[in-house]
Amino acid sequence: MTARHTLPLALLLAGALSCAEATSPSRVPNYEWRLVWEGGLDTLSFHWPEDMLPVKIWVEDSLDMPARVQEGVDDWQGAFLYGEYAAVLVSDSSSADVVVRVVTPPPKAIATVNRLNTLLPGCEGATDLDIEFIATQYELRLPVRMYVAPRYDPATTDLTECFRVTARHELGHSLGLFQHTSDSRDIMYGNPEAEGLSARDINTAQLVAHWPANLIPTR
Ligand SMILES: [Zn+2]
Repeated sequence: MTARHTLPLALLLAGALSCAEATSPSRVPNYEWRLVWEGGLDTLSFHWPEDMLPVKIWVEDSLDMPARVQEGVDDWQGAFLYGEYAAVLVSDSSSADVVVRVVTPPPKAIATVNRLNTLLPGCEGATDLDIEFIATQYELRLPVRMYVAPRYDPATTDLTECFRVTARHELGHSLGLFQHTSDSRDIMYGNPEAEGLSARDINTAQLVAHWPANLIPTR
């Protein structure tokens, strides 16, 4: 356990001092990821606690979405050096931490839910974050709910790439990347088109994983 904890600290220090590493030849900036809460009074940062890994993701078995989500999981897991994130697809939706439905984002079940929307030419996505301030802390009510859906008849268009990009993007939200970027090369761009994770996506995700979280997952 000790070794696991010293490695991220070393990573943080390396980032803070902007030491050059073999895998990052130049200094790569991160982007803002924190959710601005209630008029900017607080900014919320989230990452999955170590004891909740691997994150359990249930995906509706429709339009090959489980395969697309698995690809996204593989991409994000590959962004971390020390296993800070891991996820598995599970068959039981009732105990899942993240639930992915293949439907047009429905009206929000709870008015206060934070919804992050994504729109691509062929498909759309959304991630709902149910956040409440309880007593002394901000709580993220699980499961995180995601929606990915075709905008047109899926029989007439190959939506594989659109689903792939959207699944990767929405998974980024579930990692704690709670803002959209203004750079179209990032997967967390508002209307994503990047074919993979940018260096900024990876750098920011690593930073989030080691940033003190003030948003706590609960059921
Ligand atoms: Zn988004």
